[in-house]
Amino acid sequence: MITKNTKIKFSGYEYEGYRMIWDIHTHTTYSHGKGTIEENVNAALALGLEEIAITDHGPGHLTYGIDKALIPEMRAEIDRLQALHPEIRIRLGVEANVTAVGNHLDIAPKEFADYDYVHAGYHYGIRNGNCMKNFMNWSLPGNLWGKELLLANTEMTVAALYENNIKILTHPGDKGPFDMHALAKACEETDTLMEISTWHSHLTEDELLICKKYDVKFVISSDAHVPGRVGDAAVAIKRAFKAGIDPERIVNIKKFK
Ligand SMILES: [Zn+2]
Ligand SMILES: [Zn+2]
Repeated sequence: MITKNTKIKFSGYEYEGYRMIWDIHTHTTYSHGKGTIEENVNAALALGLEEIAITDHGPGHLTYGIDKALIPEMRAEIDRLQALHPEIRIRLGVEANVTAVGNHLDIAPKEFADYDYVHAGYHYGIRNGNCMKNFMNWSLPGNLWGKELLLANTEMTVAALYENNIKILTHPGDKGPFDMHALAKACEETDTLMEISTWHSHLTEDELLICKKYDVKFVISSDAHVPGRVGDAAVAIKRAFKAGIDPERIVNIKKFK
């Protein structure tokens, strides 16, 4: 358990006495993270977290999606570490990619059973995701396809939320234009946590001002790609508080002093 005396390993751990108590969005070398599952778990243990999840990128990512053949190996490693460390819950999840086809994710319905939970987020580098257009729209001046992309991005993300049991919508609003009202409404109706990331700027303060009007709950994630960032929470808590989000609505923070 985290106590007031838990050693702070990096500056981003605490804001106004609030700390993250579980971090369920972290990456390893099974996608494009730098650390092993054990290193992420050890980082979480050092911070006294109650739960850590390994949530590498979905298999549809063209350059660093997980290799589905290695899921049993990941599960065995998590089982081994869980037996060694009963004081923390260790979970295997996945950060699925939102796409415009099928069940709107790169994790098929029958594959959900491979994981303890499935997060979903929009990323570049996937098929059928308007990636090139979103990237060009973001990087070139003129907001060339802004309205068209806002509709397409929002439609596929909302569809993914209704068609699948998703635990967290990761970094909503990142990498393309989205209708934040529609995303928040869909998260409210599907009981999906909206992520406030310490790694990505989204949800931004302005986006949080929209989302807080809906009956949604929020989760802070490090989205750590190196073990040293597991548990990183401060900038996201600060952003949430600036937007006037009640700490009670953030499911994984606790005040320690
Ligand atoms: Zn992501
Ligand atoms: Zn991630």
